[in-house]
Amino acid sequence: MLIVQKFGGTSVGTLERIEAVANRVIETKNSDADVVVVVSAMSGVTNQLVEYSEYFSKHPDGVATDMLLSSGEQVTTALLTIALNAKGYACVGMTGAMAGIITDDIHTKARIERIETARLKAELKAGKIVVVAGFQGIDEKGNITTLGRGGSDLSAVALAGALDADLCEIFTDVDGVYTTDPRIEKKAKKLEKISYDEMLELASAGAKVLQNRSVELAKKLNVKLITRSSFNHNEGTLIAKEDDNMEAVLVSGIALDKNQARVTLRGVVDKPGIAAEIFTALAHENINVDMIIQNVGHDGTTNLGFTVPQNELELAKETMQKLSAAKHIEFDDAIVKVSVIGVGMKSHSGVACLAFETLAKEGINIQMISTSEIKISMIVDQKYGELAVRVLHDAYKLDK
Ligand code: ADP
Ligand code: ASP
Ligand code: MG
Repeated sequence: MLIVQKFGGTSVGTLERIEAVANRVIETKNSDADVVVVVSAMSGVTNQLVEYSEYFSKHPDGVATDMLLSSGEQVTTALLTIALNAKGYACVGMTGAMAGIITDDIHTKARIERIETARLKAELKAGKIVVVAGFQGIDEKGNITTLGRGGSDLSAVALAGALDADLCEIFTDVDGVYTTDPRIEKKAKKLEKISYDEMLELASAGAKVLQNRSVELAKKLNVKLITRSSFNHNEGTLIAKEDDNMEAVLVSGIALDKNQARVTLRGVVDKPGIAAEIFTALAHENINVDMIIQNVGHDGTTNLGFTVPQNELELAKETMQKLSAAKHIEFDDAIVKVSVIGVGMKSHSGVACLAFETLAKEGINIQMISTSEIKISMIVDQKYGELAVRVLHDAYKLDK
């Protein structure tokens, strides 16, 4: 039996908590399982390092930035290793590079290409607990890379997949996946089980309890994934393949994404190829465009709006200004995205109407809408974000 256990920032936030993590890992090891542990940096550390990296330049060098950002996870990996050794357990700590996590070279949001598992397997075979620094890897040139914010979840799932682990447990500061962020809505309910697809939509819509790419990979590699609390032994939430019971539930969760900004291009020449030009330029800068709306054109011009992550707005601004494809460009980062998610939507109608009516009743204006088979997302003014989450949670009776 092989278990991958990942501990997030709050769970390793102090030396006392690292000791508690060591005890939890030992419990698992003593249950006769091999254990690979993945750790995040202490909570707040990565934010601090990001701030440092931007002190001297708006566009700091990628290699240097990743060298800096990855350091937080090295600290906790080393400390947990020392703690486990001190408790008499043979343990080896590894950076992403030492663990053979090979990525592409897109710094600060690298993708894992493969994991060379020989050394990991040898250490496990020798009976050791292996602790791996999350959120990082190494590219073909030998440069350290990082996997994007929240990326330790991805490290854990990728390791579980590569090592064919029986289980991947994500330990965090809440008991599992809830119907919405329990910090926003106290009445949120913990879900016993959720499908990979719903979890992927929730995560992509801003529910940071799991990083979206980690869910995508778990689905692809069929990794058995559980989120649970590192502070108690309550049962967590299982993320698994969709089953018949799941489709009976209309809506399973509401998510809020505060990391959104909108770009509006006014007076865009309405001709074939213009959208390609705009979005190719953004893709070239590795900017993640989310929602897009284009108005019906008139007088040979049209308006085009799209959203990007807030921390990519600066770069999006510069990219759009260079392109000069529009007469006027507007930017707004005082917006949020609220999403309603549920596999039951596939087979029911009227789900979206209830969301629109509910927000209308509160006087909340919807600025943009996008839908998928199992999701409705709406852009609203930032100041109404949490209110929107609560009224939607009520409207879909998620507390029942
Ligand atoms: P970690 O540092 O352990 O990776 P994160 O802060 O990344 O933890 O994710 C856990 C947080 O996700 C919780 O504290 C909670 O506020 C937030 N969250 C957002 N949406 C949800 C949800 N639907 N269910 C549970 N937690 C959620
Ligand atoms: N420490 C990194 C972050 O804060 C990775 C993680 O916690 O998953 O984004
Ligand atoms: Mg996280």
